[in-house]
Amino acid sequence: MKIVTSAAELADGCTFIPTMGALHAGHASLFQMAKAKSDFVVASIFVNPLQFENNNDLELYPRTPDRDIELASSAGVTHLWLPQESEIYPANFLKKSAGSIGEIFEGANRIGHFDGVVTVVSRLFDLLRPAHAIFGEKDFQQLFLIKTLAREGYKDIEILAAPTMRESDGLALSSRNIRLNESERKAATVIYRALLAARNNSKIEAARAAMQEICSMEPLFKLDYAEIIDEDNFATATDSTPNQRAIIAGWLNGVRLIDNMQMKPSTVNTGAR
Ligand code: AMP
Repeated sequence: MKIVTSAAELADGCTFIPTMGALHAGHASLFQMAKAKSDFVVASIFVNPLQFENNNDLELYPRTPDRDIELASSAGVTHLWLPQESEIYPANFLKKSAGSIGEIFEGANRIGHFDGVVTVVSRLFDLLRPAHAIFGEKDFQQLFLIKTLAREGYKDIEILAAPTMRESDGLALSSRNIRLNESERKAATVIYRALLAARNNSKIEAARAAMQEICSMEPLFKLDYAEIIDEDNFATATDSTPNQRAIIAGWLNGVRLIDNMQMKPSTVNTGAR
């Protein structure tokens, strides 16, 4: 694996996986998906200041550079790009807006977060000109907004979605999980249990209520939202929405965790499940 600090050292046409480092098996699954697709796999590690609401959060973000290099290399990354902030954000760079979908759910909790995400991804795309880019379903709203960004400005870049990797008890892998102590780590499984309960309900009302009830039984977990959305436009789903997804977010002692799960196809329209 070659390590580069500037995109000028990289040719066009790679399969690209942008990350913020503190790499884990979830990231590795994206690298492996890229490797199966291409011989030219670029991963970037850049902790993007624009997508953090405050400096404290940015400083608390875990950084594990030596482990990251090992994991990227063993999971099939051929080129690891470690950009300088001045390459991503030169003096004259333009901030992008994620639009109204960037202001709901995760965007309502973290003002400006998705504007920062679409800005950094568009800068990374401009500098690298990849052929494909892979993003995790774990961050489903982010994936939705990147697909929108690509449709509107980067039609030549194919956006691929990778499924969420989980621990054996269902907790979605996340760089933030290492901030949980033992009892919080146990409590965090409530999110997966709530999503499974939602999935087993064919009615939106009942699915939402099931998530809320399960979350309320875990005193350490402070629920922010539990909703069923239409995957195609991020609006609240109705019983007849064909592609529904349960999304959930909350805090465990100040650590924000998010997750989501596709609902079973609606029975209302098709009569089959
Ligand atoms: P991050 O480093 O958190 O910005 O994540 C980089 C990419 O890895 C994003 O596309 C995430 O959606 C994806 N990712 C993070 N966690 C997981 C996971 N548990 N399973 C699959 N992809 C993930």
